[in-house]
Amino acid sequence: MELYNKVKKTFKTHDIREHKHQQHCPICNRYVAYSDRYPNYVCSKCESLTVDKMGLKVGFFNITLDGHGCQGKYLDSGKLYRSTKCFIKNIQCKAEEAYLGGIIIRPFKRNRNRSSALDPELLTCKQIP
Ligand SMILES: [Zn+2]
Repeated sequence: MELYNKVKKTFKTHDIREHKHQQHCPICNRYVAYSDRYPNYVCSKCESLTVDKMGLKVGFFNITLDGHGCQGKYLDSGKLYRSTKCFIKNIQCKAEEAYLGGIIIRPFKRNRNRSSALDPELLTCKQIP
């Protein structure tokens, strides 16, 4: 059984999906470490460019030492920034607590259609007589 697992593992690297395991920063297109969970997080360089809507520099930090919560802060004044919205190069982004601690920032996506005919769950419900 152990041998079988080893062989299987070796084969996994030939899986075509493995080759897709690279991604780029959505803001500056720099190569970033692959993340299954966060396919569009911004790179650390862009993360350091976050500003509020007035153009003041903001940063985001975990609230607890073990890496939970997401608190914004004005970097110049040290005042709290009560939002997770931010802008990088005029692109609206959202900061959030990362799954394994730390902070990730991703471009903010608007809900395109509120009624969302494309929502598969909603569609399924409608099809049930
Ligand atoms: Zn970037």
